[in-house]
Formats: sequence, C-alpha cells, structure tokens
Amino acid sequence: MATLEVKDLHVEVEDEETKNKKEILKGVDLLMNTGEIHAIMGPNGTGKSTLSQTIMGQKNYHVTKGDILLNGESILDMPVDQRARKGLFLAMQYPAEIQGVTNAEFLRAAINARRPADDKISVMDFLKELDKNLDLLDMSQAMTERYLNEGFSGGEKKRNEILQLLMIKPSFALLDEIDSGLDIDALKVVSKGVNSMRGDNFGALIITHYQRLLNYIKPDVVHVMMDGRIVKTGSAELAQKLEDEGYAGLRDELGIKA
Ligand code: ADP
Ligand code: MG
Ligand code: MG
Repeated sequence: MATLEVKDLHVEVEDEETKNKKEILKGVDLLMNTGEIHAIMGPNGTGKSTLSQTIMGQKNYHVTKGDILLNGESILDMPVDQRARKGLFLAMQYPAEIQGVTNAEFLRAAINARRPADDKISVMDFLKELDKNLDLLDMSQAMTERYLNEGFSGGEKKRNEILQLLMIKPSFALLDEIDSGLDIDALKVVSKGVNSMRGDNFGALIITHYQRLLNYIKPDVVHVMMDGRIVKTGSAELAQKLEDEGYAGLRDELGIKA
C-alpha cells in the first residue's frame, strides 16, 4: 500500500501582472491510501487546482508551510519528473503538443521512465497493453500514431489523458476536472477507464466542480474545499447533499461567510 499525505499545506501564488503574492491554500490536510478514490469538490477559485498543481510540483506554486509526503517521504524538493517517476500522475501535466513525437512513442517513453534501466517494457508487451486499453476506451489505433495532442479535439485530449493513465499506471492520479466539456458518452468512457484502474495499487484524487462525474466514479471519500481549506470530509452521500443543497447550504451549516 502507498500513501499520499498533505500536511497543513500553505501555498502562495504570484500574480503574473502585479507580482503580488497571494496565499491560496491556507492549511490543507489530506491522507490518501492506494485502494481509495477521493473526490474534492468546491466552488470555483477555492484552490482545488492549486492543490493538484502543488502536489505535482509545478512551478509558481510556493509552499510556505506544511509538507507533502509520499510513503512518508517529503517530495517538496523533487522536480515534476521525479514525482512522476515516484508514481504521481496529474492529468494536465503533459505538454499540450510535442512536435515530432507520436502518441505511442510518448507513452512508451513515459512508461520506461518509471522503470529501471534493465527492465524496459518490450515492444510486444507495450503493443499488447496499448491494444487492450484502446479497446477499453473505444479509441482507434490511428490516435496513437498521431503526434501527441496535435490537432486533438477537446474530447480526444481527455480520452488520451485517460489512455496515459491506463498505460503509465501511477500509484496516485490527480484528475482535475476531467469531466469538463465532455458529453455524456465521452464521460462514460472516461469513467470506465478510471474505474478499470481501481484496485489495491491505485488511488485517485478526483477534482470536480459538479456532482455528475461522481455518479460514474463512486468515491470512497468526499472532501469539500472552500477558501483554501478542506472544510468537510464525508462519504459519497456528501456529494449528493451538496448537489441538493448547494455550497451556500454548507456555508450556513459550518458558519462560513460567503
Ligand atoms: P479552483 O481550481 O478551485 O477553481 P484555483 O486553484 O484554480 O481554484 O484558483 C484559486 C485562486 O488562485 C484563484 O483566485 C486564482 O486566480 C489563483 N491562482 C491559481 N493559480 C494561479 C497562478 N498560476 N497565478 C495567479 N493566480 C493563480
Ligand atoms: Mg477553477
Ligand atoms: Mg480548478
């Protein structure tokens, strides 16, 4: 079992225009084990994406206090690619387009980056795995021979992110708004992919503004984030309650000012 722990995390971002620093995360605590699917819900602008970007180690997100531990080891000083090799995956982490690199070449390189030098995946095994996952996601072989993300539609990009997830097999996936802009058919395919990853060696943090996605991917734990903090944690029913009562209802309940 692997664990991902966020402890009293405070994060500042720098405004690109004014250069003023602004505290976005104000003490986030979160503990995830593999085998579990967690969801983070919350109104726009509360810091959900900031949390996922900071866990992955993207620049411009400055940790001023607290820690992020993977299996008990702090990852704060590790660059993004090292965190990826340690088993973290952020759906948006990969470059929008890589010229001259096909999707399949990219996937194989990403898989091999996580494996020791004397244990690279064979072409046969890679293609077998690729075929299986293309089938599952209802994707064509042609998609993998195209240059990465070049001319992909929004829906194709999302599907491709899930293909990356299935191929790279991280310990923990951070899935930020994977449902945005998807029609119901695409949403079902994307959910099927994530659900197929469920198991003892996989954990996911699903970030979403809406409850709809959670009808397809049932979370074990639901967290609500408001104003840079996790203000409530519960079971899947919490998502339903939010859908029914809205964030305003929860604000009232917790005595948080809007
Ligand atoms: P959410 O994902 O919950 O909608 P975000 O984490 O995207 O929230 O944003 C939280 C706040 O942090 C917003 O006020 C946003 O403008 C600000 N913010 C996030 N990232 C940056 C950045 N790179 N530069 C400047 N401000 C940012
Ligand atoms: Mg947002
Ligand atoms: Mg966001």
